[in-house]
Amino acid sequence: MSQFNYQNQTLFAENVCVSQLAQTYGTPLYVYSKTEFEQRWKMFDEAFADQPHLVCYAVKTNSNIAILNVLAKLGSGFDIVSRGELERVLRAGGDPKKVVFSGVAKQSVEIQRALEVGIRCFNIESFAELDRIQTVAKQMDIVAPVSIRVNPDVDAQTHPYISTGLKDNKFGVDIEKAPELYQTAANYSHINPIGIDCHIGSQLTQIAPFVDALERVLKLKQHLADNGIEIHHLDLGGGLGITYTDETPPEVASYIQALLKKLDDSSVEVIIEPGRAIAGNAGILVTEVEYLKPTDHKNFAIIDAAMNDLIRPALYQAYQRIEPVKLHSDGTKAKWDIVGPVCETGDFLGKDRELNLQAGDLLAVMSAGAYGFTMASNYNTRPRAAEIMVQDDKVWEIRPRETYEDLMGSEKLIS
Ligand SMILES: *Cc1c(COP(=O)(O)O)cnc(C)c1O
Repeated sequence: MSQFNYQNQTLFAENVCVSQLAQTYGTPLYVYSKTEFEQRWKMFDEAFADQPHLVCYAVKTNSNIAILNVLAKLGSGFDIVSRGELERVLRAGGDPKKVVFSGVAKQSVEIQRALEVGIRCFNIESFAELDRIQTVAKQMDIVAPVSIRVNPDVDAQTHPYISTGLKDNKFGVDIEKAPELYQTAANYSHINPIGIDCHIGSQLTQIAPFVDALERVLKLKQHLADNGIEIHHLDLGGGLGITYTDETPPEVASYIQALLKKLDDSSVEVIIEPGRAIAGNAGILVTEVEYLKPTDHKNFAIIDAAMNDLIRPALYQAYQRIEPVKLHSDGTKAKWDIVGPVCETGDFLGKDRELNLQAGDLLAVMSAGAYGFTMASNYNTRPRAAEIMVQDDKVWEIRPRETYEDLMGSEKLIS
């Protein structure tokens, strides 16, 4: 199933030898499977069958324009959270009419640009934002299509940092307050409320919270209809989890079917915004062991990738599998903390991993296709890793490793 498998004791990405890629492009190195991206996107699209729908890939998950372009060619829509992401979608050949714009802090210039290119919908997160969009749209004499992002107050049962549908976080508006906001929107001259939006969290491994949220959204839709506001689409957000180690998230098809069953309406358009469930297992981060440092208390394997390349373990205590690129025929396993070169105690990619290691070995941090490169930084003046895409035995360098000129070239001495 996975596109990352061993052939003759060596890890391959599709039909490309990972150690060969490391030799050619250096490490740390992100490697993505084009086939995996395509197959996962299609799973979502096909599960909807005849229901009007749009799969809007969440750009923040992995935003390299080669990846956006692969998805755009399949007909994908895009969920963006900034003007920068909009520019990426346009550059990648994405259709602006399939773009939905989420995010709590849209600036006037971002709204203006989105109206200018004619996006499908703004997902509005507050009264103040609605006012701002009305103002900008009026100046441009364009009517802005909007959804209100409601907060259905369901517990997504995931990590608190990636749970977004509860009353006490910054996202969305209380579903109880939503009717008032829709009335205001309907009365504004340059706003057209066309949808309802929600996104309750990320890395969900159960279907129930999604169905609960949909149930509340449907009640709101009926309430709005009773008050003369016709809703054309329901945007149910992203959030479907993936298997990092032993999680057992629902299959894409069962998740979509559960939604359609609850929906019981073949006319309303459904938008979804999956990110991780498409990208997560489509990428790995390849790194080399620089030093082995066994101590009395712990064994450290110091690698050339760090929290600046992949921050999920440090930020969310996330677990990602770490596998050897080449399996040794000799030696024994020991417990290793896999740590990076950055000057922070939190700089680790894995703890207590049973591995048979030697200095110079290559390791693959699995499930690194989502929230990997897009959350990378230059902390410690470390150039960001190169990104490679493969399909079958074909290889494309979709972003070269940053150079020191990239890092410092625009900085200036004073006087
Ligand atoms: C992050 C985000 C997504 C994607 O979430 P995944 O868990 O990666 O599927 C979708 N919609 C919104 C509004 C988001 O903020």
